[in-house]
Amino acid sequence: MKKCYLIGHPLGHSISPAMHNAAYKELGLDFEYLLKDTAPGELKAQIEKFKAENVAGFNVTIPYKEKIMPLLDEITPLAEKIGAVNTVKNENGKLIGYNTDGPGFLESLKDDAGFNPAGKKVVILGAGGAGRAIAVTLAEDNASSIIIYDPEEKKQDDLVEYLFDLFEIEIKKSADLQREINEADLLVNASPIGMHPNVRLSPIDFRLSPNLTIYDIIYNPPETELIKQAKRAGAKAVSGLGMLVRQGALAFEIFTGKPAPYQTMLSGAKIALHLKQDGHHKDPKPNN
Ligand code: NAP
Repeated sequence: MKKCYLIGHPLGHSISPAMHNAAYKELGLDFEYLLKDTAPGELKAQIEKFKAENVAGFNVTIPYKEKIMPLLDEITPLAEKIGAVNTVKNENGKLIGYNTDGPGFLESLKDDAGFNPAGKKVVILGAGGAGRAIAVTLAEDNASSIIIYDPEEKKQDDLVEYLFDLFEIEIKKSADLQREINEADLLVNASPIGMHPNVRLSPIDFRLSPNLTIYDIIYNPPETELIKQAKRAGAKAVSGLGMLVRQGALAFEIFTGKPAPYQTMLSGAKIALHLKQDGHHKDPKPNN
């Protein structure tokens, strides 16, 4: 049996095993997906164990998406540009790092929201790991302008500077968020505002334009306060479950070499999420 893992800390509320194991079952693959909660300081030793065990691959989540990079043998150009790895394939002891968060977001944006970013103006809330992956992917996919807002000014400025050096499109930090969002085609919430258990919070306190598309990458709850606001304004709004499942589906394909059964993975993720919500969990930060 081939094994795949999710490595991170903490991992208590991950829905990745449900999603991947449902896909293995559907295709009759002799694979198993497991969690490996790894304490800081044990990352390097755990990677060696994965090699010794000859795992097929592993996903990486908070807090190791950047820290894993120097421990790998090869990194794809996109993951290098994003500056983070969330998927590692083991090719006979050679570890190859990928980033499927950005491409997963892009696929979901196109398929679930019907939005093609080419030539479009985008505002991104949040300059953390997810904001960076999304900004790089949107810039690669020819968005015409990207404005970044993060209350932590250093993070905001660092990301703007990083993108400015990499891409030739318009990249700015936010100066007047309400006006910028009103003039934008796409608003992405890559901040944790509105995530369980703070489900009544929204990063936006003004009326949204009906012409805007809103992508909230939060998937718990499935309908955030921001998505409710967007719907009230008559705007198109999509939640982050599609991104989560698509990054998982892309990782599945990297690990197994087979096309992912997307609908099966989506159902597996929905069931696991539902069970966790029924369990009234209190952890504010569910990882992948
Ligand atoms: P992160 O590294 O902590 O970054 C989040 C950033 O948002 C932080 O810099 C934070 O600033 C900032 N922020 C806080 N309030 C804000 C506001 N009102 N407006 C704009 N920015 C604000 O977290 P992350 O890993 O990027 O993840 C962000 C969210 O995305 C989480 O909810 C996570 O669960 C979700 N996510 C979803 C998927 C998916 O597949 N759907 C994938 C990855 C992440 P402070 O540090 O000052 O608070």
